[in-house]
Amino acid sequence: MDYNEIWQAVLGELELTISKASFTTWFKNTHILEIKEENILIAVPNGFTKRWLENKYNKNILEALKNVLNNDKIKTLNFKISHNAKPEKPKKNNINPKTKKTIDKILNQQQNPNNDSKNFDSKNFILNPQYNFENFISGKQNELAKAASMAAAKNPGKVYNPLFLYGDVGLGKTHLMHSISNYIKKKYPQKKLIYISSENFTNDYVKSIRSGNIDNFKKKYREVDILLVDDIQFMKGQERTQEEFFHTFNVLYQSKKQIVISSDRPPKSLPAIEKRLTSRFESGMIADIGTPDLETRVAILQSKIQEKNISLEISEEILTTIANIAHNNVRELEGALNRVIAIHQLNNQKITPESIKEILSGMKAKEKDAPPTNKKIIKIVAEYFDIKSDEIIGACRKKELVTPRQICMHLMRTELNRSYPSIGDEIGGRDHTTAIHGFNKIEEELKSNEKMKHDIQMIKERLYS
Ligand code: ADP
Ligand code: MG
Repeated sequence: MDYNEIWQAVLGELELTISKASFTTWFKNTHILEIKEENILIAVPNGFTKRWLENKYNKNILEALKNVLNNDKIKTLNFKISHNAKPEKPKKNNINPKTKKTIDKILNQQQNPNNDSKNFDSKNFILNPQYNFENFISGKQNELAKAASMAAAKNPGKVYNPLFLYGDVGLGKTHLMHSISNYIKKKYPQKKLIYISSENFTNDYVKSIRSGNIDNFKKKYREVDILLVDDIQFMKGQERTQEEFFHTFNVLYQSKKQIVISSDRPPKSLPAIEKRLTSRFESGMIADIGTPDLETRVAILQSKIQEKNISLEISEEILTTIANIAHNNVRELEGALNRVIAIHQLNNQKITPESIKEILSGMKAKEKDAPPTNKKIIKIVAEYFDIKSDEIIGACRKKELVTPRQICMHLMRTELNRSYPSIGDEIGGRDHTTAIHGFNKIEEELKSNEKMKHDIQMIKERLYS
């Protein structure tokens, strides 16, 4: 095997153990430079990737290399930044003209504190100063999103552009977008930045058409250095707004301005957003945010308590009890904490696991009685088959994915009585004929296939328990 073949085999192994988003991000443009007895040197495209691989994937890579080379003696990995196959960098001793311009601008800015970009924020774009990177607690499920956001904030337009963050409601997308904005405002006060929800973007657009000010609208969004659009899924169906956004996107993208977008699902599962836009989103960095695990939820609670600066004694056991009950998302977690604190302060009593269970008992019941939804079906089917929800929605046609996908279609029909077009929509924007075909396929299987019967039975049990 030559180096290339070895590395391909290693990547093949790694792909199995690392989430897809992380994999494509961190292993793009890497290769083996040298194998020398127990040491292996790997080329990486930049310092950020280098640190990430060193700190986070060192062990995984080492394991995979040992397997592939069938050699347990390999001990150390080293990473070297190599700009191979990347555009040439300006020579070291010359200041890049762009950097120089930025420095001049900063100096200028310091002499002219009334520079009007300072007042660029209108009421629409209020940033919450409480949201920053320091108080965004990271765990396995959100560290990629946080790291990418920090990188984009430190070097806007340079590393991940566009940056697309997605995850369910209450998992910290808005927190991260405000953190990016707050960071940039502090570090690069001269840069023009707009943070806006896609709804407000739409409203602004409509208003500008009504008042005949479309040119102002265009100018406003096209001359920013950083544009952050929150909850892009709500731009669905607004054809003219999407058209305008598409042009804004292109102008900004071409002039290397940072674009950050958030959504409750990945680009390819945004059926009502035009394809040409979603494929733009896919061209940059995509980072998902999942529900934090127990350990992270406890850490989040700890951080929130510190911020509140209250005198109540709350042990780790208590925090774990809260985190166990409020496990869906961080917003819910915060809500539970606030309730517990409020009730105890009111009654001036000691917090015990029992008292918490009582206070939060309503929450559990609510969840238990929650009727199945499309989302729940996808989630439970994915869990049952040990695949990801995204893979059910996604385009891949592997058999291991097609059957679970069709089971979802079937259940949406039998349990929720959904129309075929809406089922197609829900499962990655597929055509209604695909949904019909999926439903029929499972109906057919159920007549004779015992395993299928069993699978569906088990899934239904979970769906209603
Ligand atoms: P989303 O925009 O994804 O719906 P938000 O950003 O509004 O979610 O987050 C909901 C709440 O949870 C906010 O108060 C936010 O500060 C908090 N939160 C979410 N994730 C984290 C985290 N990792 N660490 C600390 N707080 C978090
Ligand atoms: Mg939000």
